[in-house]
Amino acid sequence: MKDRLTKALLLLSLAAGVVASGMSIVLFQLGLGIAALASAVLGSLCLGIIARRYLLWVEEIKTKAASSETAERFRAEQAETHVQELEHYVAELERSSAALRESRERFKHAAYHDGLTGLANRDQIIDLLAPMIELTGAADEYRFAVLFLDLDRFKTVNDSLGHGVGDLLIVEVAKRLQNVIGDRGTVGRLSGDEFVILVSRVLDQSETILIAEQIGEEFASAFNLEGRQLFTSASIGITMGSARYSRADEILRDADIAMYYAKETGKSYVIFDQIMHARAVTLLELETDLRLALERNEFELFYQPLVNLDDCALIGFEALVRWNHPSRGLVTPGEFIQVAETTGLIIPMTYVLLRSACEQLAKWRASGLCDPRFVISVNLSASHLGQKGILDHLRSIIFETGIDPENLKLEITESAVMENAETSIAVFRKIKELGIQISIDDFGTGYSSLSYLHRFPIDTLKIDRSFVGTMEDGSENGEIVRTVIALAKALKLSVIAEGIESIHQFHQLRILGCEYGQGFLFSRAIPAIEASKMLEDKGRWSNILPPNDYGVVARNLEYTQLRIQ
Ligand code: C2E
Ligand code: CA
Ligand code: CA
Repeated sequence: MKDRLTKALLLLSLAAGVVASGMSIVLFQLGLGIAALASAVLGSLCLGIIARRYLLWVEEIKTKAASSETAERFRAEQAETHVQELEHYVAELERSSAALRESRERFKHAAYHDGLTGLANRDQIIDLLAPMIELTGAADEYRFAVLFLDLDRFKTVNDSLGHGVGDLLIVEVAKRLQNVIGDRGTVGRLSGDEFVILVSRVLDQSETILIAEQIGEEFASAFNLEGRQLFTSASIGITMGSARYSRADEILRDADIAMYYAKETGKSYVIFDQIMHARAVTLLELETDLRLALERNEFELFYQPLVNLDDCALIGFEALVRWNHPSRGLVTPGEFIQVAETTGLIIPMTYVLLRSACEQLAKWRASGLCDPRFVISVNLSASHLGQKGILDHLRSIIFETGIDPENLKLEITESAVMENAETSIAVFRKIKELGIQISIDDFGTGYSSLSYLHRFPIDTLKIDRSFVGTMEDGSENGEIVRTVIALAKALKLSVIAEGIESIHQFHQLRILGCEYGQGFLFSRAIPAIEASKMLEDKGRWSNILPPNDYGVVARNLEYTQLRIQ
């Protein structure tokens, strides 16, 4: 607008200047000198204005041009800065997405691999199994195999040499397994000393067995762990992939079951079959039933008499558990104790039984049926020795039932005691401080070191019935029984022979100087009510004694000891 006004003014001034100049020439020619002069001055004035206006205008345009140039440059600079910032952001973005990618990869690796060995972990194994299972269903000729491997006695390595050495062994085992398998399949570690091997394409079962045998050979040489030579073996359960399986965990479960069979039977490998599965299901049902049994109070103690072999007097009872199963009737401990032990149910179960045995003893004492030295023996499992609460439980049971602790004897098998001898010694000392007696059960089966035995604060050795049952004149088992009796006497322990079934065994044991015994010859384990009746008739077995034969045991013991020396 301003430019247009300036232009109009310039044109007007130019026109006025031209007209004034033209008029001055005409006026001069007409002889009007002054007027011509005035007109000339006016014309020059106009032209001067024009020139000035023009110069100002040019100047203004120049200024404008310069300022727009500056603005342009500023914009360009700004654009440049923006571009640089953008480039920086892009680089930054690329860097962080690379880091993200990398950490995603790392995360994926960690999520799919075992930290210690770098082998595939359970998640990866399950993911790898899914397409194999699918393929088996779709293509008849496709076969794969799963080998479930568990190291033998790994716990002993960990316990005796420490977890560091245990870890080293695991890493070396992983390497050897990978050596054997190569690119035939995938080796994975599920946990602890459990490995799994997927062989993705096998012809038949015999090819898989060959792999198991190769693993056995690979383990034949010693493992060198930080200069320490160590041998280990493995138990392997094998399952062949088949259309029967629709899920990865099913096939792993069956391979695991087969592995347990391998362990149980001491074989290096076992191939899964359906009977194993049926047994596993039964076991699971048993576990569930046992839990319910405890809640429903279905366990009952039966009592087997302990007899003085010299005069056949009843000196005590061993309390033996029975399960009053709602549908199966009376179930003996052989069918459930082991499951109760592996599930940990044995702990609460034993406390219930201990209390019940002590209550029963208190009742018999209160009714005058037994003398002050009468003993009740209760069996304890190995797991009790590691239990912190056992002493408190014993203390409160004794206090609440009011029995004399000397009348309570705890039986613990020799193998349980030897599993952790030092712990056993420490726990036994505390139990003895409470005044309770301790007996080592099934003696002769647990390979006790004799040097240890004298350190155990115990009262009694119970000779395992396997020796008594096959004890004949001059037999090796007869010698074992003789030795155990002499050993017990040397250590000032009482000795009880288990499983006396015949008069012949009874007499032999008396001749060897065995003081006490129990067995079907006297009685099987009987319910409490029958045990009460037995207490009323303590001399019931005197008829099996030869006439006038009292004191023979002690006399014969001296003879036994002399023979051993
Ligand atoms: P055990 O402690 O060695 O108990 C003796 C077992 O031998 C009893 O079997 C008894 O019935 C059996 N027996 C006794 N005399 C004879 C005989 O002359 N011949 C034969 N063939 N057997 C005889 P039971 O009651 O079946 O108990 C088996 C095992 O179960 C026990 O062996 C013990 O280890 C365990 N057990 C029993 N009750 C309990 C319990 O309350 N707690 C724990 N932890 N274990 C128990
Ligand atoms: Ca026992
Ligand atoms: Ca026994």
